[in-house]
Amino acid sequence: MSDTIRHEVGIPVPQQARTSEAESPRLISYVLPVYNEAEGIKHFHTELTDAVATRPEFDYEFIYVNDGSADGSMRILQDIAKNDSRVRVVDFARNFGHQIAITAGLDYAAGEAVIVMDTDLQDPPRVSLQMIDAWLAGAEVVQARRRTRRDTPFKRATAHTYYRLLRSCSDVDIPVDTGDFRLLNRRAAEELRTFRERSRFIRGMVASMGFNQQELLFDRDERVAGETKYPMRKMLRLAADGVTGFSTAPLKLITRMGFATLALALLGIIYSVTLRLFFPEVTVSGWTMLMVVMLFLGGLQMLSLGVIGSYIGRIYSEVQQRPLYIVRDVIRHDEA
Ligand code: UDP
Ligand code: MG
Repeated sequence: MSDTIRHEVGIPVPQQARTSEAESPRLISYVLPVYNEAEGIKHFHTELTDAVATRPEFDYEFIYVNDGSADGSMRILQDIAKNDSRVRVVDFARNFGHQIAITAGLDYAAGEAVIVMDTDLQDPPRVSLQMIDAWLAGAEVVQARRRTRRDTPFKRATAHTYYRLLRSCSDVDIPVDTGDFRLLNRRAAEELRTFRERSRFIRGMVASMGFNQQELLFDRDERVAGETKYPMRKMLRLAADGVTGFSTAPLKLITRMGFATLALALLGIIYSVTLRLFFPEVTVSGWTMLMVVMLFLGGLQMLSLGVIGSYIGRIYSEVQQRPLYIVRDVIRHDEA
């Protein structure tokens, strides 16, 4: 399965994927998006390698995705790769955005478990070790959920409201206060690779897949260096991708508004006709006809928009080409 997908996206199958001797330690992949992190990336790598050094029973690979940095991050990454044979750097030709960078990293990851984390130390490396423990205990996906976060009050407030709003209007159960810091086991990572839609909201895709998902509470740290690479514009786009990708609430709203407008229009029509028939002295000539036509057309248009919208919604979900269903395993009589 994974081989065919890799072939489709034109990516060579990494060496580790082919060899699976029972004796060799299990490989854990870290997927690490980098955008203009020159100030902190070296420190990050040291922290991460120090953390994983406490768990020598695994092999590790660190896949940095340089998302078109313009500040010399790439040179530092090359340096890191020179000194650490476990490092691989995927260098984007331009800035494609955080969600795409994660996707590329996942495409190259060959580990039995894949951990996605930010490279600004807001996602603490020690928490990723706890994720590994949860994975060993049987979790297929481990989500890191922020108990607290040290961002600006504005960011905290908007994020808090947004996650709850999205959850209330979404068809899938998207966990609140959960970003992209998570562990996926090999099966879950393979499935996530089959989602190739362009407007990506990875936390929603993972939530929609199913599997045994566990939450891990953690306290989100401050950024070690530099400033957020998510300006308002990118944040709004991500928020919109979340809503339009995982909710049909806006469409349903149009349809409901259509019904409401039509109902009000009927009332208005009855009112203006009644006036015309029983109190002709107060109505201006031509007013009744004008009101009837205007109200009726307004309601009808709103309703039609809703109907068209619901078809567009279907076209949209068809072109996303998400998997129809996801199988964890097929068990046959002789294996059971
Ligand atoms: N990032 C990226 N491409 C972008 C923006 C951000 O790869 O266009 C990376 C960034 O280097 C960091 C992670 O995504 O590792 C999260 O970004 P950031 O810390 O700026 O977001 P915040 O934590 O402020 O939400
Ligand atoms: Mg950050």
